[in-house]
Amino acid sequence: MLKTTITGSLPKPSWLAQPEKLWAPWASDDPAQLQEAKHDAVRLAILDQEQAGIDIVTDGEQSRQHFVHGILEKIEGIDFEKKTRIGIRDDRYDADCPTVVSALKRSGSIHGDEVKFARAQTDRDLKFTMPGPMTIVDTLADEYYGDRPKMAMAFAEILNEEAKELVAAGVDALQFDEPAFNVYLDAVPTWGVEALNRAVDGLDCTTAVHICYGYGIEANLQWKATLGDVWDQYAAILPALAGSDIEQVSLEFAGSRVPMEVIKLLDGKKDVLVGAIDVTTLTAESPEEVAAVIRNAMEYTSPERIFPCTNCGMVPLPREVSQGKLRALGAGAALVRAEL
Ligand code: ZN
Repeated sequence: MLKTTITGSLPKPSWLAQPEKLWAPWASDDPAQLQEAKHDAVRLAILDQEQAGIDIVTDGEQSRQHFVHGILEKIEGIDFEKKTRIGIRDDRYDADCPTVVSALKRSGSIHGDEVKFARAQTDRDLKFTMPGPMTIVDTLADEYYGDRPKMAMAFAEILNEEAKELVAAGVDALQFDEPAFNVYLDAVPTWGVEALNRAVDGLDCTTAVHICYGYGIEANLQWKATLGDVWDQYAAILPALAGSDIEQVSLEFAGSRVPMEVIKLLDGKKDVLVGAIDVTTLTAESPEEVAAVIRNAMEYTSPERIFPCTNCGMVPLPREVSQGKLRALGAGAALVRAEL
């Protein structure tokens, strides 16, 4: 009960990539050296989680440069040389995005080796994260499909093929990251959930979706400042997710203005990964603060449904801050567990 997990990413060591930076360049361009550094970083990421008492661990996303573009590098139909500057997340910020130029195709395994390596490093449950179809579509320029739902379904099929391979390689949980769900509210009940259902079709593992208000970067902080006293995005989309095939929903609560009662919209049908760690602050929460968020969530769903988690990825944070937050998460959950 109250098994802890993290959203996915952790900071990268400076010998792997430039710290505290999104899309950080790798420290080495020698392939063998880079591979060795990634492996060492994964071992440390898992060790940090184990020592902090995190029950369901990830590889810390140490092997990818960015949570969306990591997977795209191995999909046919995307031209990485052809970068187009587009406004993403409804023009919240501009990014130089690769361009879809022909039909999308998964030509081979994408994350298989990463999962096999991570699986061999831990006996704990292993979660692996991939971007969800809507978020992928929103982080790419398109010169081929001309239709977002159609392109999302093409990605959903690719994600599903990949996910089946990763389950066979030993992942216990697969999570699709869909920050775009919080932006395109009207599209979630229609093609957003449809694409997500396609991505998890027939998967023999726990399935999750993560929906958040983003990293603590400047563009997100400015966006959050415009959202008013009550952030009601989740209230608009959770009813659709309650009826989806996804088993777990990862939501942000710590330090946010999301009312905890939105959990009720999942109708007791889904597990809730309760964000109890704020990724926009540079100080670690106390275990008692984490415990308070968990206790609050327990007013709206049963403890069996609650998985204490981080609000979002911690990749942009200083390493020691992230380590402190991991320890607070593990200790805070342990406090509440002891009370039950
Ligand atoms: Zn997030």
